[in-house]
Amino acid sequence: MTWNTGDSEHGKYGLTERRDCFMATLGNVKNTIEILEKYQFRFQKKFGQNFLIDGNILGKIVDAAQITAADCVLEIGPGIGTMTQYLAERAKSVIAVEIDKNLIPVLQETLSPYHNVRVIHEDILKVDIGRIVREDNNGEPVKVVANLPYYITTPIIMALFENHVALHSITIMVQREVADRMQAVPGTKDYGALSLAVRYYAEPEIMMRVPASCFMPKPNVDSAVIRLTRYEKPPVEVKDEAWLFAIIRASFNQRRKTLLNGLSNAGNLGIGKEQIAAAVEQMGLPSAVRGETLTLEQFAELSNYLFRTEA
Ligand code: SAM
Repeated sequence: MTWNTGDSEHGKYGLTERRDCFMATLGNVKNTIEILEKYQFRFQKKFGQNFLIDGNILGKIVDAAQITAADCVLEIGPGIGTMTQYLAERAKSVIAVEIDKNLIPVLQETLSPYHNVRVIHEDILKVDIGRIVREDNNGEPVKVVANLPYYITTPIIMALFENHVALHSITIMVQREVADRMQAVPGTKDYGALSLAVRYYAEPEIMMRVPASCFMPKPNVDSAVIRLTRYEKPPVEVKDEAWLFAIIRASFNQRRKTLLNGLSNAGNLGIGKEQIAAAVEQMGLPSAVRGETLTLEQFAELSNYLFRTEA
């Protein structure tokens, strides 16, 4: 394992070390407890630490991510290295970014048999992921795999997409409701700005539900694994991406309002009611149409109409 523990918080890129010791495979309760006790590890709620303890589910996640010997994997939040071991067995290489300094010595031990893993001690929300991918995989697309802390699910996914990090897919464990929202279709209660943002960049597919009993400690919510396969280019063409997302957000800010009222009440857009009414009419939509019934294609068309009006 190559690892970057940092001198202080963040620091030097370090050595590659091969230990000639037997390291038990994680992914079961006994070995997980053993390693946690050895390092007297204390779970930190603020880092959303729920470690996977079910080998069967771990194998299925790696399958769902379609990892092959040709792949470089970016794992976000390796924890004690459980999923990392499964990934390292299958992939060409694994880059694992972990925020908790208390886990770095644990990872040093649990990943010591693997030459193809680099651990980086960083906050994934602060590190330049694009640069790491360029350095480690010559800018070729990586596959992102993560059992994410639920509080950073959306910011991470959006950062990966919006910053155009070279990636083929993101296969992630998320709160079940979030997976449902990502895959939701127009007119359903789960459909919203997140569903549209995801569909602009990727094809979402919920791969499996994961019960709380598969984690230590057990989370209070149900989880699901979703795979987002990135499109080579977005399925719709817009004049301005930021403008499209501003329109989408404003349309869902006031869910029970008509699209016309929702958009005209959004002070930050600066579009008049008449312009919106004209765009809705030109698109052949009923004047009382609600934002939550519009497809991505319709939002793209609407944003282009309104952008032209403004320009
Ligand atoms: N992958 C491990 C597993 O499946 O057993 C651990 C998953 S646990 C739900 C989430 C992991 O993400 C923890 O190890 C936590 O410390 C780490 N983490 C939390 N916030 C992070 C951040 N901003 N950047 C990098 N890692 C983070």
